[in-house]
Parts: sequence; C-alpha cells; structure tokens
Amino acid sequence: MNQIGYTGDGQNQWYPFMDRSAPSTVDGVLQNPAVVPVRDADPLPEGARFVVVGAGIHGLSSAYHLAMELERSGKGKGSDVVLIDKAGPGAGATGLACGCVRNFYMTGALHAILRASVEVWESDPINFGFQQVGYVSIGEENQAEDYARLHASQNESGYPSDLYTGTDAHRFLKGLWPDFKTGNCDVVLHEHRSGYAGTHIVMWGLDQKCRQWGVRRVYGTAVTGYQMDGGSVAAVETTSGTIRCDQVVVGAGAWTPQHWTWLGGPSNLDVHYPDGHVEAGKDLWTYWRLLEGEVYLPSGVDYRTADGKDAPVLHVELMNTPVYGDDGEMIQDHVYTYTRYAAERVGAPGLQGGTIPIPIGSAAEVEPYGHLNDLYQADDWFPEYYCKTLGMLFERFEGLEPFYKQRRNGGIGAFTADNVPIFDFVADNAWVIADSNHGFKMIGVGKLTAQLLVHDDMPFELKPFGFDRYASGGTFGDRNSNCPWV
Ligand SMILES: Cc1cc2nc3c(=O)[nH]c(=O)nc-3n(C[C@H](O)[C@H](O)[C@H](O)COP(=O)(O)OP(=O)(O)OC[C@H]3O[C@@H](n4cnc5c(N)ncnc54)[C@H](O)[C@@H]3O)c2cc1C
Repeated sequence: MNQIGYTGDGQNQWYPFMDRSAPSTVDGVLQNPAVVPVRDADPLPEGARFVVVGAGIHGLSSAYHLAMELERSGKGKGSDVVLIDKAGPGAGATGLACGCVRNFYMTGALHAILRASVEVWESDPINFGFQQVGYVSIGEENQAEDYARLHASQNESGYPSDLYTGTDAHRFLKGLWPDFKTGNCDVVLHEHRSGYAGTHIVMWGLDQKCRQWGVRRVYGTAVTGYQMDGGSVAAVETTSGTIRCDQVVVGAGAWTPQHWTWLGGPSNLDVHYPDGHVEAGKDLWTYWRLLEGEVYLPSGVDYRTADGKDAPVLHVELMNTPVYGDDGEMIQDHVYTYTRYAAERVGAPGLQGGTIPIPIGSAAEVEPYGHLNDLYQADDWFPEYYCKTLGMLFERFEGLEPFYKQRRNGGIGAFTADNVPIFDFVADNAWVIADSNHGFKMIGVGKLTAQLLVHDDMPFELKPFGFDRYASGGTFGDRNSNCPWV
C-alpha cells in the first residue's frame, strides 16, 4: 500500500498540537498517533481490578468515571483502573470525528443515552471543549411524522426540543439566518442542549481527568488477546506482558470486531425483527467509510446567527432534492449534509461537515487507521457536493468550492447488525461498548458503565442495547432516512 508520510502532501494534518508525535510504524504499517501529547504514561502492572481497552471517547470516559466512582463511593481507588491504548488518546475515530453532539435519532431508546451524555458534556464544557450552540435538523414533508415522533420522545426523555412545520419552520430558519433559503424545508427540529465539541480538547480533558483520579494510563501498548478461564477473562495479553484482571471494558471503535471475536463473540447471527421477519446468518459487523471535509470561510463570511451568536449545528436531509454540479450533472439525488463551525479544527474560520457514509462490507483494512489509510479517503465528488449543499441552503455560502480545505479526510467505523449500539457483556466479565460509529457524542455511556460495574446496578438507559435483542425480536432499524446514523 502506498502510505503517506508525516508531511507528505504539504497539509497541516497534525494540528493543533505542535508536538503531536509523528506516526510510527509497527511491522511496516503506519500507526495513527494520539491527538494529545503523551509524556507520562504508566508501565503495565501485573494485575488490576478493571482493565479498560482503548483510549477513545468511551474508554477514557469509562476509566475516568470508574476511578471517580470508586473513590467517591469508597468502593475502591482510582488506581484500580488501568487504561490501555496501543497509541494514546484519540488515535481512533474519536480524534477524527466531526464532533457533533445531537439527539436526532429515530430510534427512540437512544434519546435517554443522549440525555445522560449531554449531562456529562455540560459537567465541564471548558475541559471537554463543548459548545452548546444547539442543533437544527431539517427535513421534507416525507419525514414530518418521524420528526413529530422524535420530538415527543426527546421531550419525554428530558431533552427539550422545538418542532416547527410549514411557514413556522421557514420563519424560524429566517429568524436564525436571514439569508437561509427555505425552499423544500418543510419540518425543523431545534434541540437546545446539543452542539459540538472539539475532538482534541475533549481527549485532552478526559486524559487529564483520568490522571487526576489516579487511573494508570498505559499508552503505546497493544492488547493482543484475552486469556479466558471458562466464560471469564482471567488476563489481558499485551505487547508489554500479561495483566490479570477482574473486569474488562472494551471501547475499541473500529477494532471492536477483533476484540469481540477474541472474547468469543459470534461474527454472524440470525437477526429477528419486531415484525417477525428474520434475516438468517447476517454479519454482526459491517464497516462503513465516512465522507467528511472542511472548508475555510472567505473573508467577510461567517457562520453566525442573525444576533451574532455561534450558530447551531445544522443537519439537513432532503430525500427528494437532488444536488447538481457546475457541469449540470447530478452529484447525488438527495441532500444529506451536516455542518458546524470548526475554527478550532480548520485552523482558521471554517466549517466541518459531511454526508452519508458508504458501506465497505464485513471486512476492512483497519490499519493504518483514518487519514493514513489510502483505501478509505473521502471520494473525489465529496468536496463539490458538500460545498454545493451549503450554497443551496445559504446565500452566504454560494461558491465556497475554491475554499475547500484539500487534505485527507475520512475514517472508518464498525457498525452493528441494526446500525444501533450494542452495550453488553460478551463474556461474563467483559463489557463491550460497541457504539456502531455513533458515539463521539455518547460520552455518558462511560458514566453509565461505571454505575453498572461499581454498583452492580444496570442503568435503565443501557438496557435496550443488549446483544440479545437480535434473538428476541427487539432489533432496531425503524428509520425513515437514507442514513444509518439517523
Ligand atoms: C470521520 C468521522 C467522523 C465522525 N463524526 C462524529 C460526530 O460528529 N459525532 C459523533 O457522535 N460521532 C462521530 N463519529 C463516530 C465517533 O467518532 C465514534 O463512534 C467514536 O469516536 C468511537 O469511540 P471509541 O472510543 O469506541 O473508539 P475510538 O475512538 O476508535 O478509540 C478506540 C481506541 O482503541 C485503541 N485500540 C484498538 N485496538 C487496540 C488494541 N488491540 N490494543 C490497544 N488499543 C487498541 C485505538 O488505538 C483507539 O485509540 C465519527 C467517526 C468518524 C470516523
């Protein structure tokens, strides 16, 4: 494979931490580095009560909340928790994510997960880089009923949102952005507690919190397998030796299928749906590649509201509205775009966003990960598509194409059989957080995990996401959208 070098294409890929390490290689394959400097990692101890695998959003949040809960409840010490990552914080999807924090899901059970998560984001917005600007989703008439259902469910879950339709929707959008082109925008949902977070900042903040609560952070050590004793993990095998443990938490992002298999989980299964139909022998994991990118804002153009505030994150799905290129050819037969202000990411005033990911199949090259992998970069049509959708929606964003930030973009994720997270034990003492690539925003799952593991108390928010839903007919998947994330 033709791999890029550290500064190979002349782009500022390793921002914003000037001393972020350059990628190293393992067996000749580039390793995606941590997005924060890693200087004070701990050695691998011989044993620990809790071993958390993966220092992405879920592993770091779990380790931090476990340590804090052990200390506060008197049931243990922060140092009972060992966090292992083969690189360091943010070396997986978390370091690349767009950072959108929203509750726009047609799967109602997720609304409580997001309510629990936004409470964590709100608990320290500065050190998590959380900008609570709100989230505005827009659809056509064909999604109006879905929006109404979603709005009711969100509000029942303690996640306030407003719903607007028809001329009310247009008035609301024009009030926010007077140059907004409201044609085809039939229904609008405004989530107040949502927003976006700087991906690198939250990695830094969570890593520091782990440190403060005494978590032993073992970075630059890869897990190579699990020693099983009956149905339980007795020890975790790593490149730095073996560590005995009472309990494992896996937050391994796109690497989850590998850990799941090591832990004895099945890779395909019969999937039973609520309407009684069954899909036999379905793959549990499907990899998808993401289409995302960034665009600078030209001088004099901003992404602010009419009253000068940082604008809400915007999500627009117009399933019946095609997008055309400058040559008059249709790029896609629908609009699907999400966008947020992203100066901290772009390195200048700018926007970051994306569109619907593309399925790869049940196998994918996970190494090298992210921007380092030549196979899964955003397609050539994406920059024009993204800029055109913005120009279709805002007068101020017409003609943004020359300002697109040309650099590597993308990343892959492991999605589950119904594209909804699995939060469950795969072995008696191995808890897996498989977020189906939804989960940068789901920072609260680590807190719920701590409640479960420290107090042996299964939070109601996690209950619907057990693996047994596929056998019992509780499989999710009832969504009226082109996108597996909705
Ligand atoms: C381009 C892109 C944009 C996205 N945008 C958003 C968004 O806007 N909002 C949102 O909510 N979600 C978004 N997502 C999804 C979200 O980023 C992921 O769902 C989430 O970050 C996954 O977190 P994680 O902790 O499970 O995994 P990761 O962040 O991938 O972390 C897993 C960690 O495990 C480590 N690891 C793996 N295997 C081993 C091993 N054997 N030994 C030791 N360490 C190991 C890796 O080094 C890595 O650091 C996006 C994803 C991508 C790729």
